[in-house]
Amino acid sequence: MIPLPDAQAHVLSSVHRLDAVDVSLSESAGRVLADAVVADALIPPFANSAVDGFAVRSEDATVPGITLRIIGMVAAGASRLPAVGPGEAIRIMTGAPIPPGADAVAMVEQCDVRGDLVELSEALGSGRNVRAAGDDMAPGDRVLDAGAWIGPGAVGLLATLGRTVVPVVRRPVVGVLSTGDELVDPASTPGPGQIRDSNRPALCALIRERGFDAVDLGCAPDDEAAIEAAILHGVASCDALVTSGGVSMGDYDYVKVVLDRIGDMRWMQIAIRPAKPFAFGVIAHGGRSVPVFGLPGNPVSSLVSFELLAAPALRSMAGRADVAPLVVPAVASAPLRRRRDGKTHFARVALDRSGTELVATAASQQGSHHMAAMARADGLAVLPDGDGVESGERVEVVLLRSY
Ligand code: AMP
Ligand code: MG
Repeated sequence: MIPLPDAQAHVLSSVHRLDAVDVSLSESAGRVLADAVVADALIPPFANSAVDGFAVRSEDATVPGITLRIIGMVAAGASRLPAVGPGEAIRIMTGAPIPPGADAVAMVEQCDVRGDLVELSEALGSGRNVRAAGDDMAPGDRVLDAGAWIGPGAVGLLATLGRTVVPVVRRPVVGVLSTGDELVDPASTPGPGQIRDSNRPALCALIRERGFDAVDLGCAPDDEAAIEAAILHGVASCDALVTSGGVSMGDYDYVKVVLDRIGDMRWMQIAIRPAKPFAFGVIAHGGRSVPVFGLPGNPVSSLVSFELLAAPALRSMAGRADVAPLVVPAVASAPLRRRRDGKTHFARVALDRSGTELVATAASQQGSHHMAAMARADGLAVLPDGDGVESGERVEVVLLRSY
């Protein structure tokens, strides 16, 4: 058995970032930035008021209770700005440029207006309630790194800088193939010995939830020619392939036979539970080089294996700088028991908030075929080899939710 970090490192070292494409600002949301963004302007572009109130000269307002004469008004968007002289104030709105002469703004809540006079109830230092030009960004500031995920804040930043064409990394197109003679389509009624193919829809959903494109390559029977045809079809049309089933020690594990013939594969027994068997390699065919993740067939194993081994590699292909699964600290609500077996266990747990802490509660059924427990899980509690974790003890949890 090989340790999980070694398997993860091997997979990550074998994949490459996909090429960059230009997309529109609105299409850039949820993508990964291909190049760093360096500001080319002062943001804010001009000093402006942070509040509604009165623009004044701070030297006129060194003590509370000063009365000034109101000589005009500037609103946001104003381009003609009256100057503020000694003893004067100008009514100003949030976002309006600071008029010449003024260097501070008294909040309207701190002002008592009587006719064309205003009394300030507090003293004001220079710069009070003023947003200086460039205090957010200045030319040359690297404001986003390549590999950053473009969230709503980044979209706003790009818009502010006028970047309406955004270089993003192409989103990996991931083909999903199920294998097994026992599998029928979810819309069919299984006959004797058959079950519905649940991995394919589950993996497609997971791939999309993690921000990649999923392509359904169907379900191949346990037949070498059929599996090879399906895989080569996937190689021709996808950036990466995910297969489920046929990678363990069974007699009809033809995925193994086919992948060994057409790919440069490494077959691993990883020191984890569930999801011990895992295959990874690269298929070079028709001028393309496509990584393939051979996941075990058991439904829980296939999803856990994807999260721990395939998702980080796909994030790397997608250009993400941070590829590791997100791990959060939690407290066990009850003992999370396990036996010593040389493996790290990933127990399916529900997470609940309790004050400032997350509380992890194990699903009652921890078998690799127990889909009902998997469907309710929020995370995977990491139980290093040993006897487990006692009630109230800390435990790390790999988040299964979208992030
Ligand atoms: P395998 O890895 O092919 O030996 O399959 C291990 C277990 O997972 C068997 O019980 C299979 O029936 C089950 N299995 C394999 N593929 C799927 C699938 N796509 N959907 C649901 N169960 C599956
Ligand atoms: Mg099988």
